[in-house]
Amino acid sequence: MSRSLNHPVAVDDTLAVRVRDLTKRFGARRVIDGLSLEIRRGEFVALAGPSGCGKSTLLRVLAGLDREIDGAVRVSAKRGVAFQAPRLLPSRRVWKNIVLGLPGDRSRKRADAALAEVGLAHRGGAWPKDLSGGEAQRAALARVLARNPDLLLLDEPFAALDALTRLTVQALVSQRWERHRQAILLVTHDIGEALLLADRVLVMKEGRIAFELIVDSPRPRDIDSEYFAQAKHVLLAQLGIARHDDLEADADANQDSLVRAAA
Ligand code: ADP
Ligand code: MG
Repeated sequence: MSRSLNHPVAVDDTLAVRVRDLTKRFGARRVIDGLSLEIRRGEFVALAGPSGCGKSTLLRVLAGLDREIDGAVRVSAKRGVAFQAPRLLPSRRVWKNIVLGLPGDRSRKRADAALAEVGLAHRGGAWPKDLSGGEAQRAALARVLARNPDLLLLDEPFAALDALTRLTVQALVSQRWERHRQAILLVTHDIGEALLLADRVLVMKEGRIAFELIVDSPRPRDIDSEYFAQAKHVLLAQLGIARHDDLEADADANQDSLVRAAA
């Protein structure tokens, strides 16, 4: 029944991810059920969806951590993954964590350069237990970025951060993306964050991509604008969060201009 069809190779010149008809079962249950998804090179995609809908499962499959699947999955070979928890090794100093397992140069200098990118140049010599939550999360990000991936898979990396730190780390990711244009798939439950950062916001439901919103707005974005108020509203409706009486009028008015349902 289950086969490994996860080929970690570049799909072609234009795609970082190509998933066709992916199904993932846990026992008899299909957590992912015939899902298809393409992410272009350099594209920033956010993925939202109710808790338990299979977002992390999808990321694990794309990261090559779960190969018991059906369907065709092709993912850029140079991919990096960051999870909600920083997962730093407590027995190694921060800088060692950054270069651990890196091919080639594993010098302090290289680690410090990666740490500097996330504003942590001064913390390389610290132990992980002495970092604040925000610092640990940024260190985990530095560890991924040091690998220079052309696909970043980020599973709610900002979820545990306080509001202020979250803004800082969001800005870091955004600046880094502007500079390097690696493809990013960012799982988030924060619609504002998705709209601030992504080119495209996907909503996952019942094991598939049920909805897609193209964020057609230049950066830096003013998410207090009318455009974003409408986009937020449409996405919240898709997530089943908005009030029903609001929905019908707005869905009709907005759907054509803002949104196209995923094929
Ligand atoms: P999300 O990240 O969207 O919140 P997950 O991908 O973590 O959701 O989980 C999707 C569903 O699959 C959940 O119902 C979860 O309980 C189930 N699940 C995840 N991992 C396993 C596993 N290893 N064994 C059995 N069920 C699992
Ligand atoms: Mg999850």
